[in-house]
Amino acid sequence: MSEDFAPRLLRWFEAHGRHDLPWQHPRTPYRVWLSEVMLQQTQVATVIPYFLCFMEKLQSIKSLAAASEDEVFALWSGLGYYSRARNLHRAAQICVERHGGELADDFEALLALPGIGRSTAGAIAAQAFDRRSAILDGNVKRVLARFHGVSGWPGEAATENRLWQLADAHTPHKRVADYTQAIMDLGATVCTRAKPRCDACPFASDCVAHRDGLTAALPARKPAKARPTRSTVMLVLRDAHGRLLLERRAPTGVWAGLWSLPEAEDEASARGEVAHTHGVDASAIVFRPLPPFVHGFSHYLLDVTPLALDLQPAHSVADAADRRWLHPHEAAALGLPAPVRKLIESLS
Ligand code: SF4
Repeated sequence: MSEDFAPRLLRWFEAHGRHDLPWQHPRTPYRVWLSEVMLQQTQVATVIPYFLCFMEKLQSIKSLAAASEDEVFALWSGLGYYSRARNLHRAAQICVERHGGELADDFEALLALPGIGRSTAGAIAAQAFDRRSAILDGNVKRVLARFHGVSGWPGEAATENRLWQLADAHTPHKRVADYTQAIMDLGATVCTRAKPRCDACPFASDCVAHRDGLTAALPARKPAKARPTRSTVMLVLRDAHGRLLLERRAPTGVWAGLWSLPEAEDEASARGEVAHTHGVDASAIVFRPLPPFVHGFSHYLLDVTPLALDLQPAHSVADAADRRWLHPHEAAALGLPAPVRKLIESLS
């Protein structure tokens, strides 16, 4: 264990860390929380414009709690991983119900909110409330696995526990907010996944991965596992005004609550579905195939066959709570799954 890990990192942070991120000025609990959730699986440069726009529209936990889910999804649109937005929204409502519209300043209460795991709770406690609390996001895992030469895959419980122990041991009692920002910055800007800049790192003199030439091997990658493939047909139904039919997906499951194109198992059931819903003679339906594509989920691959059809005015069903005819630019303002957004953009 390197005793001076935190002081070295803090010295590096003073000269090279990021001090002008929008959520640092002012560093309120709501701003820190929103930034931490947006930064999960997303880089700082991508997050900044979304953060600014979100803060402009929903300036407090109370206004977030009072917003509609569609409004929140629209502000999140393009950031992906929409479950983060749904959890954020729900958590804001819980803050209003239980904590008077404030974010709880206690680690356990933070952890109890939807979408806040141990690392995010630690980051909020440290940065918003200056509580000594360790974090272990992807950047920190990489720095610690390399510095200490921890060889297992961080997704395994034993390796993760070891990394948590190290993260906790290094977390200082003073300047914990700066330390938390510093270790995230080091991972994001110096100890990067590919080609880390060890020559610019404050730990180069005693880092195990640097010493042993293991930076490419650590942290260990997830053992590869073949993903099964599922297939679906997406229907690009257009009315006489050039509007597309979108449907809101069920509140649970894949892409829960997002707007998407109608789907069917295969072309025959798509034909049956259109005939039934829109009152078209099935034998008169001739779909126009669009280029197929594959979308990768963490557990499976989705083989998508888009089929287009222009409907006559008499066959366009009316809008409903979970079904809308929208021009492509109107659809773009909704929360859409990333591949559906891409498909709609490719139509224009
Ligand atoms: S010396 Fe290199 S591998 Fe080690 S922590 Fe620094 S940047 Fe990462």
